[in-house]
Amino acid sequence: MSDMALPQHARVVVVGGGIVGCSVAYHLALMGWTDVVLLEQGQLTSGTTWHAAGLVGQMRANRNMTRMSKYGIELYARLEQETGLATGWRASGSVTVARTPERMQMLRRQMALARSFGVEVHDISPMEVAQRVPLLRTDDLCGAVWLPGDGKANPSDLTMSLAKGARQRGVKIFEGVEVVGVLQAQGQVRGVQTLAGEVRCDIVVNCAGQWARQFGQLAGVNVPLYSAEHFYLVTGKIEGIHPLWPVVRDPDGFIYYKEEVGGLVMGGFEPVAKPWRVDPIPATFQFQLLGEDWDQFEVLMRSALHRTPCLETADIKMLLNGPESFTPDGNFIMGEAPELRHYFVCAGFNSAGIANAGGAGRLMAEWMVQGAPSVDVWDVDIRRFAPFTSNRRALAERTVETLGLHYAMRWPRQELQTVRPLRTSPLYDTLAGKGAVFGSKNGWERVNYFKPVDAPAARDTLGTPEWLPWVQAEQVATRETVALYDQSSFSKLLVQGRDALALLQRLCMRHVDTPVGQMVYTPMLNERGGYESDFTVLRLAPAIFLLITGSAQATRDLDWISRHTLPESWVSVTDVTAMYSVLSLMGPLAPTLMARVSPDDVSPQALPLRSTREIDLGHARVRVARMSYVGGLGFELYIPVEMTRHVYQTLHTAGVALGLRDAGYYALDALRIERSRRAWGAELGPDETPMAARMITRLPADKTPPFIGQKALRDQFHLPLHQKLVRVVAEKPEHYLWGGEPLVIDGETVGEISSAGWGHESGACVGMAYVRGDWAVRDVVTQAATALLWGEPVPVLLHDLTAML
Ligand SMILES: Cc1cc2nc3c(=O)[nH]c(=O)nc-3n(C[C@H](O)[C@H](O)[C@H](O)COP(=O)(O)OP(=O)(O)OC[C@H]3O[C@@H](n4cnc5c(N)ncnc54)[C@H](O)[C@@H]3O)c2cc1C
Repeated sequence: MSDMALPQHARVVVVGGGIVGCSVAYHLALMGWTDVVLLEQGQLTSGTTWHAAGLVGQMRANRNMTRMSKYGIELYARLEQETGLATGWRASGSVTVARTPERMQMLRRQMALARSFGVEVHDISPMEVAQRVPLLRTDDLCGAVWLPGDGKANPSDLTMSLAKGARQRGVKIFEGVEVVGVLQAQGQVRGVQTLAGEVRCDIVVNCAGQWARQFGQLAGVNVPLYSAEHFYLVTGKIEGIHPLWPVVRDPDGFIYYKEEVGGLVMGGFEPVAKPWRVDPIPATFQFQLLGEDWDQFEVLMRSALHRTPCLETADIKMLLNGPESFTPDGNFIMGEAPELRHYFVCAGFNSAGIANAGGAGRLMAEWMVQGAPSVDVWDVDIRRFAPFTSNRRALAERTVETLGLHYAMRWPRQELQTVRPLRTSPLYDTLAGKGAVFGSKNGWERVNYFKPVDAPAARDTLGTPEWLPWVQAEQVATRETVALYDQSSFSKLLVQGRDALALLQRLCMRHVDTPVGQMVYTPMLNERGGYESDFTVLRLAPAIFLLITGSAQATRDLDWISRHTLPESWVSVTDVTAMYSVLSLMGPLAPTLMARVSPDDVSPQALPLRSTREIDLGHARVRVARMSYVGGLGFELYIPVEMTRHVYQTLHTAGVALGLRDAGYYALDALRIERSRRAWGAELGPDETPMAARMITRLPADKTPPFIGQKALRDQFHLPLHQKLVRVVAEKPEHYLWGGEPLVIDGETVGEISSAGWGHESGACVGMAYVRGDWAVRDVVTQAATALLWGEPVPVLLHDLTAML
């Protein structure tokens, strides 16, 4: 405990004095919020931070996350100068080696992306690896990547340096103070209860590392993470290892290395991990480790003996086993909790907390000070997790998988395997019996495609997928006859009450004050004019609206809506996802089939586009909506869950003669891309405006009071675009685009493909992409470009998109 007295009030209380808590406090102070208190139950770094290996890399999956990591490295490189405390930062560079051609292709893709994100990166041969990294076996390698800007730091020193930088700006840090409760009133944080007394505050930040889940529970906040045992080995001095020996990653062998005091630290990510089954984790677990487990480490050790035979004779100082927290999708968790206002979380770093803490701390500070992070961080946003993800058995079982995925070869569209099936439609078994191959989204099992029941499973590939013919058949049925899609995983929110209309008018860009029975597809924008969500609003009654939104968006949309509901208004928002199944009937024969199963008139005259009503279908009552996500004729059916099987069988019985076919999400996605239907999470997100997404050509009508984002749209509408969505078509059918490929024109990277799929009508892959810089303001019309497919240039054509609305 510090000599200072605990203050009675602070603007922000940060809980946890690991690298993450210290970075958050440092950045808050840097942004001018100095009335900050950091409380640590043990000593700074005593949780997980002190025993991290300290590898710091920049390459991440997307632009914003890479930018975040790059910022971290810049910070670590200059921090010592600022605070006078060494950080151990050393830009030793890193080498990642590939044992297989597919891994090398994967690395080339990452290289192409990294370059387009502004990271210096080089493709090097096994011979160059041998020159850069003495003692590394290279005769079995296919190639490698060299990142000169990567490096390593001393995690404890770095944390102390951040803490000093925070203190210098006024942050008060208290060690030996355990926080045992969170004070709240009217759904908002009011302070914290500690073993040393209360501290009233406006904001709490949960940076409690592997304790973050149990600490979150004290306030009813779900922080889904779980600790796993995590290992590395430390050797004595080895002849030939020098301080600038680069960080080495051998992902096919699941291992990494760094130099330390003339020896090696070798650790890794074993494919089948070992959760640390301790619940709850005691507060007294400070500067502690777990017992050695050579059996668990064997897979890494064997691999390391192959890659660095010098280990055979090296002096092994210790096998370190320390717990680290992992999340259900392998990404960390940050943002304001949906359960409690002014309660922020930054935790669950999946063994990359040292590398990410600098950037994450800054984003968190922006979130608190400015009300939102400066860029889209949906990949790590706490609202991606629904409440059911708090289940501890599920977390433990998923951790076995996600730790191993860190270095595993991630094939395109590869699905997680554990904790499945969890959320299923009533048709799950029926569809499985018909050859359905399922993917998983937000816990929901969704059909990716149907394969012939006796056909072997499609093998993973980076080339044209073996499942493509099956998906093509589903696409053909949708375009030429009729196909049935089970989209029951759609999130459904019922907004009702006297002020429901006023609320939705303020949240939605489009007017939703329509006659009952009409539906409106609308963006929900943020203050910057970017997409917080997009959904369809069905007006069921004057004060009752049903929102149909993405499968993964229920928590996020509910949070946004409730956050913007005025305290005095009369409105309730209920997640009714589990009450209705959704079957989509798509294709030119959909109206014929509907006429065979329902006595009600659903012709365009009786049920025009974007209208909805209840009808008889077989013996059931269902809600029908005339709409199509894939283009062309189609209906969505919202069915009480208990009648789903009946409706499905009725449709199939009547549809046989029309060629009705079951179809899945791969076909759906490819068809929507072909018709340039933008999807949230791919083309639409908080950084994209309707102008950039080419969704509007004129300003939407103003509303009084204004909708959120109205001013931003007005201010930006006549300004030049920074980015613009275009259509991409592969010139050759044999080039299978997956999405994510950088686009190059005249040697300059101009953007990346946001999503891609097989274009039935084009006879080649089609996609969409944001182009930036000059290309965002030019008329593209038709422009030749190259897409870097697994790093190799392939010809594509870019076309301007016509606005949708
Ligand atoms: C073997 C191993 C190797 C690793 N190697 C790397 C690497 O090379 N590169 C990399 O980037 N990452 C690495 N990591 C991961 C990295 O160590 C973590 O991601 C990072 O340290 C997490 O920092 P944190 O601040 O979130 O957690 P912690 O350091 O655990 O800090 C959380 C703090 O919160 C405190 N706390 C909890 N509850 C309370 C409470 N109620 N009241 C007050 N205080 C509380 C705890 O005492 C703790 O000090 C490694 C991890 C392990 C285990």
